[in-house]
Amino acid sequence: MMGKIKVKSNIVEIDGDEMTRIIWKMVKEKLLLPHLNMNLAYYDLHIARRDETSDRITTDAAEAIMRYGVGVKCATITPNEDRVREYGLKKPWKSPNATIREMLDGTVFRKPIFVKNIRPSVSAWKKPITIGRHAYGDVYANTEMRITGTGKAEIVFTPAGGEPIRQMIKEFTGPGIIQGIHNTDGSIESFARTCFAFACDQKIDLWFSAKDTISKTYDARFRDIFAAEYEKNWRAKFEEAGISYFFTLIDDAVARIMKSEGGMLWALKNYDGDVMSDMIASACGSLSMMTSVLVSPHGYFEYEAAHGTVQKHYYRHIKGEETSTNSMALIFAWSGCLKKRGELDGTPDVVTFADKLEEAARQTVEMGIMTGDLILVADKNPNNKKVDTEAFIDAVALRLQKKLKNG
Ligand code: NAP
Ligand code: MG
Repeated sequence: MMGKIKVKSNIVEIDGDEMTRIIWKMVKEKLLLPHLNMNLAYYDLHIARRDETSDRITTDAAEAIMRYGVGVKCATITPNEDRVREYGLKKPWKSPNATIREMLDGTVFRKPIFVKNIRPSVSAWKKPITIGRHAYGDVYANTEMRITGTGKAEIVFTPAGGEPIRQMIKEFTGPGIIQGIHNTDGSIESFARTCFAFACDQKIDLWFSAKDTISKTYDARFRDIFAAEYEKNWRAKFEEAGISYFFTLIDDAVARIMKSEGGMLWALKNYDGDVMSDMIASACGSLSMMTSVLVSPHGYFEYEAAHGTVQKHYYRHIKGEETSTNSMALIFAWSGCLKKRGELDGTPDVVTFADKLEEAARQTVEMGIMTGDLILVADKNPNNKKVDTEAFIDAVALRLQKKLKNG
């Protein structure tokens, strides 16, 4: 019998809701605990625990990530009025992801999981494209107004202790609409730093694109901050790693991405990143084949799946019906977290374990054993077999055992 692999430092484990909570337990019991000796700082973000603690548990979890550096999170319910009724909540608590993102000041990186028998709809793509989305400001924190008729719309900034500065937006001669948006140099700088650090860490090229030809002050500020950060802190590191950084107009980037073979980090402003990450995910098959990591400029990492709690499957599960829910994204959340922990701790055996876990999961799908969502998008093959939620994890566990035994 081989001994268990020791994970040196603590990992922050953040449990969640519904179907992903069921899968989380299976992944831990069947794929991780038989092979690893881990110290887990466990935070239960089940919606009932968040309610009991008036959401204190969420900020505690974020603080734990700031203490230990690396965390892994299950999907959680973001409560709306239906959920308040369903769980008898005190109030519709804020999205835990938003709370944690704010506390960690992070950027979210999303990358599809490639397998040989699921081809991206864009045939040129041979390697996964990672999206780095700025998660602060712009249209997500806007102020907008409906204009009902004739009049003058202006933009006004009053400096502290100074005179107002005004600029004309439009002399309206009839009804219309206006919108005010903002960003801060501080937030753009940490976005830029996080993207450069991520590209260096992964040894992949970095593209950044915006609409600086039209937005000569706003988008140009993003371009200039990226350029200054690159020259000041990253050029030498990029050259040493043999990777490149460039800025290009977003129109040009979109055209080039479609003809590229992929493999780069594509940094995007908030709205562009929102839209483009959905495009990349759907072109690559399914949200369950997408990894997501929140990286903070202070060096904290939180790994998660890109999908939600898969509510409809959960309702079927509690009625005792069969489910075929895909655990790939949750497995990769754990493997990503273990790799990072192993890297930071200087424990290569933990990194090797995480690589084998990913290989075992990928190869299971490549052998044709998959959940219902993938059967629909995979290459047609008589060996393809749709399995239920647990049978998929069991098949991965078997392959993983073989890999670990064969060294
Ligand atoms: P969802 O959980 O992502 O599921 C939407 C649909 O996508 C499912 O009904 C299913 O389609 C498919 N799907 C997603 N993940 C899958 C998987 N692993 N395997 C197979 N199919 C999968 O989104 P939602 O139903 O809109 O949201 C449910 C809850 O999740 C909400 O309370 C929301 O607040 C929360 N949420 C949390 C996070 C997070 O914590 N990161 C993110 C998003 C949403 P079929 O039904 O067609 O099979
Ligand atoms: Mg979106």
